[in-house]
Amino acid sequence: MKIPFNKPFLTGRELEYISRAHSFGQLSGNGPFTKQCQTWLEEHTGCKRALLTHSCTGALEMAAILADIKAGDEIIMPSYTFVSTANAFVLRGGVPVFVDIRSDTLNIDETRIEPAITARTRAIVPVHYAGVACEMDTVMTVAKRHGLLVIEDAAQGILSSYKGLSLGGIGHLGVYSFHETKNIISGEGGSLLINDGRFNELAEIVWEKGTDRSRFFRGQVDKYTWQHIGSSYLPGEIISAFLWAQLEQAEILKARRLEIWGEYHRGFEDMEKDGLLRRPAVPSECHHNSHMYYIILPDFSTRDRLLKTLNGRGVNAIFHYIPLHSSPAGRKYGRVCGDMEVTDSMSGRILRLPLWVGMGRSEISEVISAVSYALKHG
Ligand SMILES: *Cc1c(COP(=O)(O)O)cnc(C)c1O
Repeated sequence: MKIPFNKPFLTGRELEYISRAHSFGQLSGNGPFTKQCQTWLEEHTGCKRALLTHSCTGALEMAAILADIKAGDEIIMPSYTFVSTANAFVLRGGVPVFVDIRSDTLNIDETRIEPAITARTRAIVPVHYAGVACEMDTVMTVAKRHGLLVIEDAAQGILSSYKGLSLGGIGHLGVYSFHETKNIISGEGGSLLINDGRFNELAEIVWEKGTDRSRFFRGQVDKYTWQHIGSSYLPGEIISAFLWAQLEQAEILKARRLEIWGEYHRGFEDMEKDGLLRRPAVPSECHHNSHMYYIILPDFSTRDRLLKTLNGRGVNAIFHYIPLHSSPAGRKYGRVCGDMEVTDSMSGRILRLPLWVGMGRSEISEVISAVSYALKHG
């Protein structure tokens, strides 16, 4: 592909820090780089405690354990999301209850949450699509009224905010992803953010294979023992060292992405006016991190045609998600509440465009003109 969809960006100090991790003499998890990254996350999100994980999927699984999800418990979430949002809860016997999304932000439709609540509901999982916040005031109000936990899937939301609050730092728990397709990367990687201090101690135990190893290292107990169910959710220090090189430059990376996002946005303005496509909507209370640039086409066939044309011209545009409610495992393990009109429509009409740090002006305008040409002459 001439213009790939994604190209992992290195800040330049990753290998130096990996080598430093080696010279510290600890390659297993919870060492100096892990702690440094966690402190950065705590300072930048206002969460009470951040724990690095091997993936955002792992952080979601930890959240499901902390929420004490049991067989038959229901978790309300959008169907338009990545599989891990649901899978983490299904692993504990939970039942994802899928509700429709808003047509502007493609985030969970907050008005659909309350009607989906039953006696079995335990948690709400808002997913901040493209790093643009869900309507969190409503989500938190509904959760409070019904005594539910809010677990923010902020996999795409690092350095985004809602009314000045960091995404992932608003609900009881939040999660980030550092997968190579996200804004800040470590290949695979993630973090759990704990905003409700009740979970601090148990989270450490779940993180360290169900043991109180962290307390032992702080000298609070004289031996460490099996305390609770848990697993191995920590990344090794090599991953954390790599991640530190990225976090150090996080604001710069965000600024570069914002420029690219802005160029796309200006470039597609006239095509939106002409009714050829729709651009992403960002509500005024949301500051976003330019995780993604997408366009919404008028219908399925235009999207599919454009996808083929762009890829044929070396522009690697892609689409996602196959809605969970219509996927084999989603049908087996979850259920739908209300109609899924917007989800079905948007998943068939969305097209994601290349966006990575290091993308040049000429590449951006090539993508824009390829889209324009295909829509006007295709
Ligand atoms: C990327 C992503 C995940 C999974 O992240 P991993 O770090 O790959 O496990 C979960 N939810 C959403 C919304 C994502 O975009």
